[in-house]
Amino acid sequence: MGWAVITAAVLAATPAFLTQGDVTPEDALVAEAEASWVALEARYVAEAGGFLTQAPAPIRLQRGVGLAADRNAQSKPGLVELRQNTPGVLDERLRLALRHELAHQLLWWVCPAASEDRLFHEAFALVVSGELPIWREGPYQSLSVAASELARSPAVDTSRARRALARILGEDRGFPQALSRRLRQCQDGARWVVPVSIDELADVTVKAAAEATVVLSRHSGEVLLSEGEVQRALPYGSTLKPFVMAGSSEPPPLLTPRSGVQEWACGQGLPKQVDGRTALLRSCNGYFLDWGARGGAAADFGPWGAVLTAVGLTGKPADMADAIGLRSTLALSPWGMAQAYRLLAEARPDLIEWMKDNAARGTLSELPASAAYVGVATKTGTVRDAASRPQYGWIVAVDADVVAVVMRPGKMPRSFAAEVPKVLARVRQRPGLDAAKVQVLGLASTSEVEAGCRGVGFAVDQGTPRPAPQGFSQLKQLVAKGPAVCLGSPWRVRVPGLPSEGRDYAGSFTGSTPPPYRPPPGVPTTERERSARRGSDFIFRTTRLQYTAGVVAAEDAASKGEPRIALARVVAHNEQHAETRHGGRPICDTTHCQAFLGTVRVRPEEEKALALPPLKWNQWLLFSQGGQEPWREVRPRSQVESLLGQGVASLRFDAGRVSYIRAQQESGATFDTTESLPCEVLRSALKLPACPRTASFDGSNLIFEGRGRGHGEGLDVEAAKASGLSSDDILKKAYGQPARSSK
Ligand SMILES: [Zn+2]
Ligand SMILES: [Zn+2]
Repeated sequence: MGWAVITAAVLAATPAFLTQGDVTPEDALVAEAEASWVALEARYVAEAGGFLTQAPAPIRLQRGVGLAADRNAQSKPGLVELRQNTPGVLDERLRLALRHELAHQLLWWVCPAASEDRLFHEAFALVVSGELPIWREGPYQSLSVAASELARSPAVDTSRARRALARILGEDRGFPQALSRRLRQCQDGARWVVPVSIDELADVTVKAAAEATVVLSRHSGEVLLSEGEVQRALPYGSTLKPFVMAGSSEPPPLLTPRSGVQEWACGQGLPKQVDGRTALLRSCNGYFLDWGARGGAAADFGPWGAVLTAVGLTGKPADMADAIGLRSTLALSPWGMAQAYRLLAEARPDLIEWMKDNAARGTLSELPASAAYVGVATKTGTVRDAASRPQYGWIVAVDADVVAVVMRPGKMPRSFAAEVPKVLARVRQRPGLDAAKVQVLGLASTSEVEAGCRGVGFAVDQGTPRPAPQGFSQLKQLVAKGPAVCLGSPWRVRVPGLPSEGRDYAGSFTGSTPPPYRPPPGVPTTERERSARRGSDFIFRTTRLQYTAGVVAAEDAASKGEPRIALARVVAHNEQHAETRHGGRPICDTTHCQAFLGTVRVRPEEEKALALPPLKWNQWLLFSQGGQEPWREVRPRSQVESLLGQGVASLRFDAGRVSYIRAQQESGATFDTTESLPCEVLRSALKLPACPRTASFDGSNLIFEGRGRGHGEGLDVEAAKASGLSSDDILKKAYGQPARSSK
């Protein structure tokens, strides 16, 4: 008594329930239906905050003929089909199924705008029928598992999907607020623009997302800027469309726009036939949906699905609408987005090239900020809430050196387009972000070099990412078909003879076989020297700043202040003047060029050095440890003669060369010749610390004496340390005035 009865008195009449004798007893069935209807309508009135005026249409109740095995009932407007296990008995299961189907009938009647929203219908039916506790039985399901289960069956017509939905609704003990909001929308007669989403039902948007900005180096992979909650996964809108293209088995087709279809409203002057490039620049949903429908498009991102999952995509898209973010079922963090784009830029430069037109003729065109995007590839994304307001705006920007992901809540990408060039400029205040390439590990045998990624590693095979094996594997295999990229961590590299934990290399590797090295005639070289001069099969790319710091650490880890800045300037300069060393190939990592033993922490001196103007000399600049420490080394005469020839008598050292007298025999006669070689040839072959000052004979040995370390030319690092000079003056003293540039 009481409330229900009083409410019933002011409600519209119940519908006429028509039966045909195949579910019995009929009068009890009709009475049950009427009681259920009154309760349902009362619930609706309480939640939607309004009464219903017009009378409902009649509803037929009959036995279901083609019911699936796991269903007790089904319905369409005006018809409910029921399963009756025992004729004459209306058991609890039947009454529950009846209430569920009547809930659908009520919604069809009061909210025709929501007729197609299956998730809304099922959520309402589950809540008001009283069956939630039954579905909640069974093993525990996490919210995220339930969400991805549900995302796979948008029609919610399986028991698995209903169990998942019950789990999501179960987070909220009362009548779900999301459903109340939606019922009020019914009562207002509002258009049903956006269907109910899983997030909305789960009420996971309790804490609003704040702004997030993350910038990665394309070369080293390091995070250059991170502001806000960059690790929080959010719906991503259209930002992953390039991955649909990259993952598809066929090239993007030419498609004909369908007029009058909302998803094909892709801007003014759409051509009669739309190609992939235009579809991407206009972010045209209709193109992607139609391509998905006709087959050949990767709604699951194809091989890129593994990449996106590895960087945190919350599930697999069920269809194209999920993939292109029309439904906000899946989420990805700004950090993960940046990682995925770093690999895309490596594997699919063609798509990045397309995206460079976005500010000229795509989603960021005709804005005051558009001009600031020249040369920058971009992709935008907008996530809308239930009322079609922007919930999250995304801009992904890829330039020659960095990937930036900028997410702003409550904004359209066009409204914050001016912020992104500012973010890029801010990051550029750090010097040396451009690429440096080095031939690495050429002294080791190619098949002995192993690399492992503690993040997620991928080997690119003709534009397609293949997951790298877990742990260490042959670098030769990883780079066999394209670049090898480690997302979220540096590569770790090991070779025999190094500590077994290996060394860090923050950057990407590619394979490139160098031509064989032919020593100049008459210059004696060792096997090791030939290897060093040949270069390496592995080319490592990182930032110029990281490369410079690595060389300075390997060449002179202990120096500080101005001498370190001077050395760093020379090292960075040489990386761009390596053409004389390896004939157009990158610099090597041995003392033949300048030593580089992997990634180290950058010191302030290296940042200062790279912030200074580039050096004006336009050739390779020599440097050495130098110093004045005296040394004395003994070498067998036979070793020296194997280099210089039989009969060596006196040796003299001057101006970087060694001159020597040699007794030669010809046609029985003996005569002396004077010959000379670069001192460096002798120094490196005999492994002397520096070019000697003197050599004397002692029986079957030669005694070499000298001071300091290195070849004694160019920058003398020890002398620089003792000088107290600024880096500019150190360099002038070492190399003189730069020759006038030929440019
Ligand atoms: Zn249902
Ligand atoms: Zn070299």
